[in-house]
Amino acid sequence: MVNGSRLPLPTLPVVACAVLAMGLTSCGSAERSENAEEQQDLNQESEAEAAPVPEWSLAIHGGAGSARRDTTDAEDYYQALRDVLALGGEQLAAGEASLRVVEEVVAALEDDPRFNAGRGSVFTSIGTHELDAAIMDGRTLACGAVAGVKNVRNPVRLARRVMEDTPHVLLSGQGADNFAVNAGVRRNVQAYFTTEPQLERYREIRSRRRSTSSEGDGAPNPEGDYTGNAGPERDQGDASHLGTVGAVAMDRYGNLAAATSTGGTMYKQIGRVGDVPLIGAGTYANNETAAISCTGRGEEFIRHTVAYDVSALIEYAGLSVEDAARKVIGETLKPGDGGIIAVGKDGSIAMEFNTNAMFRGAANSLGRFDVGIWEDVRSGRP
Ligand code: ASP
Repeated sequence: MVNGSRLPLPTLPVVACAVLAMGLTSCGSAERSENAEEQQDLNQESEAEAAPVPEWSLAIHGGAGSARRDTTDAEDYYQALRDVLALGGEQLAAGEASLRVVEEVVAALEDDPRFNAGRGSVFTSIGTHELDAAIMDGRTLACGAVAGVKNVRNPVRLARRVMEDTPHVLLSGQGADNFAVNAGVRRNVQAYFTTEPQLERYREIRSRRRSTSSEGDGAPNPEGDYTGNAGPERDQGDASHLGTVGAVAMDRYGNLAAATSTGGTMYKQIGRVGDVPLIGAGTYANNETAAISCTGRGEEFIRHTVAYDVSALIEYAGLSVEDAARKVIGETLKPGDGGIIAVGKDGSIAMEFNTNAMFRGAANSLGRFDVGIWEDVRSGRP
């Protein structure tokens, strides 16, 4: 076929000018300058409408729940959030892959005893630690998770090894701990995870449970001891009951990744597994939609497959990442259930919570650097 049919059709003013040029002198210069002005206006309008797209974006959380404004350690938490945000931001700026960055950021938060993940994890009702973590690559939907591990220093690193070195997605309990030996990740005795503030809280809850449970046996709280601001232990003075950690990122190549890690809920029944290691509940990433990490009352996040729900609202209902996260937090979940962080495929960041506090941070290549605990946000590096 002659390529004639594929030639672009001349626009009407061009045709009109050509016709005029045959009999008359030329198109008026006044008309040309009017058109040029119109075009300039249009260009300016579209520039104003299109928000600049970041080359990379990162969001982190350190748990959601109830924390009083006069909590004494707020400044320490702000600083801890800034430190890991800077660490991840530098790696992304240097061209590191999002998958690697979310692993490193979450591992750093696991090592920080102030957070309920890795060192600093909460206790089961019998005084042990059982840790959960997951990681997901939005480029391939590859994912790995571990549940109820007892001797793994950085559960997120073991989750990565499950993803890379096994045909499986989730390993649990003794099998996961055994796998850690072959996977070459660092291991620790249980005492490594114990910190004084968590031990104190555990003892308080145990004595309360012993005095209130009819059997007097200190049985696990059937509702768990996650304390959102709708929970029974609202307005706690310190923030030691928050602390699940997570990170979501978009790298310079447009790839998304998510990772989450937790000690679970205080005084949980042994063997209890929360939402964090369940792909689609507490953790999810898909390059077509978003990377999502959750924190809160795990059982609710499992029931509502929260992380996947955010992704599905973007994919099937065409919602923005912010609207999708807002809808799930505001309409699907109940007040006090928890929070979500998400990064969309355009690098936009959502951080929504229905508790009174969520430790969180957001940074991108356009210079954004925000940390927050309550509703307000502190911007910039001090
Ligand atoms: N979602 C976690 C769990 O249920 C707890 C938390 O985020 O605080 O295990």
